[in-house]
Amino acid sequence: MDFKPYIRVIPDFPVPGIRFKDITTLLNNGEVYRAAIDELKERVKDWEIDIVAGPEARGFVIGAPLALALGVGFVPIRKSGKLPGETVEAGYDLEYGKDTLAVHKDAIKPGQRVLIADDLLATGGTIATTIKLIEQLGGEIVGASFLIELSYLDGRDKLKGARLESLVQY
Ligand code: 5GP
Repeated sequence: MDFKPYIRVIPDFPVPGIRFKDITTLLNNGEVYRAAIDELKERVKDWEIDIVAGPEARGFVIGAPLALALGVGFVPIRKSGKLPGETVEAGYDLEYGKDTLAVHKDAIKPGQRVLIADDLLATGGTIATTIKLIEQLGGEIVGASFLIELSYLDGRDKLKGARLESLVQY
């Protein structure tokens, strides 16, 4: 299935010059949303995944249904200060300023095979930070799956050779 027609491109959001890929139009269509999750599942189902991790907020919208479809658990990666238990944290640079992501210390057991899921891969900063957190907990990154990959930004290089699947490329 071609998912691109269901993604809306909004010019000059959040700042002038950015062409934002809006996935809410895809999520709005139950049949297409399900088809996207089914397709991602088909592509990763043989990777021997123990658990799926996804960064907030759109990583939840892809990662949680994908985890359910695979029959495994889901680990939320959150902005600093949101998780109630003991966490490990890692910072990363944004276009303007810095941000910090966190994960519960006991969310991933050493040796668990982790799939990362998010809506979109751009520069790879979010994914590189997510990888750092999972590795700090002793998890093994088996790969990453996205609805969308902005291939011209080379975010793929930040995945250090891990397998990557994306349904739509720009
Ligand atoms: P990166 O860290 O790879 O540069 O940016 C990816 C992260 O930013 C993802 O978590 C994604 O949700 C968000 N993001 C950046 N640009 C877009 C966009 O055009 N559309 C959507 N839906 N998310 C974006």
